[in-house]
Amino acid sequence: MISVSEAIQIVRQQTHTLPVEQVPLPQALGRVLAQDVVADSDLPPFDRSQMDGYAVRAVDAQAAPVRLRIAGESAAGRGWHNRLEEGQAVRIMTGAPVPAGADSVQQVELAHELKDGTVVELLENVEAGKSIVKRGSEIQAGETVLTTGTMINAAMMAVLAAFGYATVAVFRRPRVGVMATGTELVAVDQKPGQDQIRDSNNYSIAAYAELAGAVAERLPLTGDETSQLKNQITEAAERCDLIVTSGGVSMGVYDLTKTALKELDAELFFERIALRPGKPTVFARLPSGTLFFGLPGNPVSVAVTFNLFARTALLAMQGAAEPVLKRETAALARKVKGTADRENFLPVQLTTNDDGELIAFPLKWGGSSDFVAFALTTALAIVPAGTKALEAGTLVNVVRLP
Ligand code: AMP
Ligand code: MG
Repeated sequence: MISVSEAIQIVRQQTHTLPVEQVPLPQALGRVLAQDVVADSDLPPFDRSQMDGYAVRAVDAQAAPVRLRIAGESAAGRGWHNRLEEGQAVRIMTGAPVPAGADSVQQVELAHELKDGTVVELLENVEAGKSIVKRGSEIQAGETVLTTGTMINAAMMAVLAAFGYATVAVFRRPRVGVMATGTELVAVDQKPGQDQIRDSNNYSIAAYAELAGAVAERLPLTGDETSQLKNQITEAAERCDLIVTSGGVSMGVYDLTKTALKELDAELFFERIALRPGKPTVFARLPSGTLFFGLPGNPVSVAVTFNLFARTALLAMQGAAEPVLKRETAALARKVKGTADRENFLPVQLTTNDDGELIAFPLKWGGSSDFVAFALTTALAIVPAGTKALEAGTLVNVVRLP
């Protein structure tokens, strides 16, 4: 058995980044940047008013109430491009350029206009610099604002747009074939007959794969039969960067995934991990170059092993700077037991207490087949191998589930 961290390291070593492609900006959400993003202009590009009000010289507004002559108006997109002189004010709107000569903006609530809008009375003194965002104070032209390997989120879409990235270089999305194995499985639209259950893993695996930026294809259900497994795998490998199966990797007579892999001359990297749940997880490469994860069949084992290993591979394929789930620290809300020879990943719900500390509530559940209870899980708490028990209040590492 290898440790979880060794297994993750092997996954990273065996995974190569996919080619780069250009996509139109609207399609960039959730993709991983294959280029640094550089500002093509200062931000703001001019001294910008933060308020609706009056642009003035602060020295003219030191003995409020004071009256200033309104010399013009500066609106967003339609500035007033003269020089403001002593004793003058310019009516200004949020986002509009501050005229030369002005050094502050008094907000509209602290002023009122007189004499048909030709004069404004400022009701309070103004400090120099008030309500002005200076040109280049946020970003200067030439600065790198996002780096290669970043997964693009909604806020980053605005950054890309602001600096003119109509198209963006990103890594290609991995194509993932998702294949549930097991003679007992029927499709979601079927009523299970005697000894049968509905396949649920194909749906969770495809969903997790999509959250990791992949394009998932649910392949037909496959029975516990070596030649059928081999045919399906070979067929899917022609178009997939990664195949993820569930079921058929334990020690039973009908656990035939490894048999199929061996007969297909796959290179096996690992097949047993010191992990609970998820010990029999398999990682291999097919002769076509397609990577392969054989996950155990239990739906909870699937969620744990997918997110530890397959998600890492998918993000690494996309050149993500941080392909591994980030570890945080939380206090256990109640006592939990460990396992002698395996690291435990326990389903927990994360909350904060009144002191702002992160608390992990271990789920009351029926084991690795209890996927209904697991659906309420937000994270996994890590109990190191060889731990008898951890008391309530013990600090543990946790990883949030996508
Ligand atoms: P296995 O790893 O094939 O021994 O399967 C372990 C358990 O997970 C068995 O109870 C299976 O019936 C169940 N199982 C396997 N595949 C699926 C699936 N696709 N959806 C739901 N349960 C499954
Ligand atoms: Mg099975």
